[in-house]
Amino acid sequence: MAVISERFDSLGAGGAPAKLGLMGGTFDPIHNGHLRVAEEMREALDLDAVLFIPTGAPVFKRDQNVTDPEVRFANVRAAVAGNPHFDVSRIEIDREGDTFTVDTLRQLREHYPENVEFYFIVGSDTAATVGKWKGREEIAQLAHLAVAVGRPGSADADALREAVMAAGPFQLHLVRVSVLEISSTDIRERLAQGKSIRYFVPESIGKNLAGYPVGAHSGRPECAASGKPESEDPLSKAFFNARKAELEKRVSPKRFQHSLGVSDTCVQLAKEYGLDVKKARLAGLLHDWDKGYDDDQARARVRELHMEDEIDPYIVEQMPGVLHGITAARALGQELPGIPADILQAISRHTTAAPDMSPLDMALYIADAIEPNRQFGRIDELRAAVGRETLEELYFQTYEYWVFLLFERRKPLHPDTIAIWNAYTARHPRKGKRGNGDGSVSGKKHKGKK
Ligand code: NAP
Repeated sequence: MAVISERFDSLGAGGAPAKLGLMGGTFDPIHNGHLRVAEEMREALDLDAVLFIPTGAPVFKRDQNVTDPEVRFANVRAAVAGNPHFDVSRIEIDREGDTFTVDTLRQLREHYPENVEFYFIVGSDTAATVGKWKGREEIAQLAHLAVAVGRPGSADADALREAVMAAGPFQLHLVRVSVLEISSTDIRERLAQGKSIRYFVPESIGKNLAGYPVGAHSGRPECAASGKPESEDPLSKAFFNARKAELEKRVSPKRFQHSLGVSDTCVQLAKEYGLDVKKARLAGLLHDWDKGYDDDQARARVRELHMEDEIDPYIVEQMPGVLHGITAARALGQELPGIPADILQAISRHTTAAPDMSPLDMALYIADAIEPNRQFGRIDELRAAVGRETLEELYFQTYEYWVFLLFERRKPLHPDTIAIWNAYTARHPRKGKRGNGDGSVSGKKHKGKK
């Protein structure tokens, strides 16, 4: 049976009554308002757990561009990680076709025993539309409806109750929450204007939003697949060639050759591991877009892009070498808003990695290390593992190698390193092999960096 939730898959298995909150939403992006609503609902309704369920293809948003589900999911996962009562589920983003709540509830009902009660949590605006939802009578049977309403006077609770009850025999709970005046729309607008979003979103995702596709929601043009000319499709060869010509002027000849090598290697990895080849090609080309800056210029770039509040000042001061991925993602997202969000995320993460790397993030990270112009240490060992190891195992071996080099060179470690290391060691324990003391795991010892 499919996994619904890593943390709460066995909820109710012992037979005792349990209450599961279901926090449905687009989460584009998730913010502290959503988290606060979930926490207050948990307390008010005595919920055992709250499962965040990012929508796949929301039916009421067919005419809007919504950010890639994988990007929204990754941010929700990072945002809820610190609360043991919260988890995120992929069930809607993994389901084909339009997202209907009734299908989600049926799937959950099949998974959980009858002693687990569901509380579907929505905001009052969404609840007011429930009369138009597919299968609403069945929804009313499958779950309680928990509606977050603002302070007295801020919403007409009686009218809402009437509207919902006219739509079906709902077990309705109107719960007053101390709503924080935060909205995903406002956050996207702030990102587009280069304004601070600090304290609106959890620290754990602030950096991830560097490449958020803010233009997607403000009428940015569609790509070729939907009628846009070939030259403007960010995944077209013409777009690639135009950026390639620009990149050549932005970085040194050596860096330019490296970028072409990363692009080719990323394409090979995409073919090997079944990823989108065009995205891999562009991510590889653009990953070092901001690498032409020296340390002070990299810091100035952070200020120019108004990212001071999003990046730990320690990183800006002590580790300016890691800034170029984050600033490149932001700058490219603003200057060329058609570039897909997952490409920007991969660029943003290619220097420091993250605990929840997407397949494209991993492919770019590996390609950056093993492209043909890199010639040191155990790179050949990593190259030989392409296709032999899973993508995640190969990525983790590459990460392990770079962390080892940082130790060897007595370089500072990025503060996220422990979280990333622990996330992957838990999933990829080394079985039956011991390291050689130089980050390699083969029979031979390597000489390290030449
Ligand atoms: P939405 O655009 O994400 O949310 C609408 C409004 O509610 C926004 O103001 C949003 O704030 C806020 N919000 C989002 N999630 C919330 C939550 N869990 N609790 C309280 N407030 C929340 O989402 P939507 O399209 O209205 O859909 C919400 C849920 O209802 C989803 O699970 C969706 O699948 C379901 N739904 C089902 C059907 C159907 O089955 N036919 C139809 C509509 C909706 P932000 O903008 O700041 O996020």
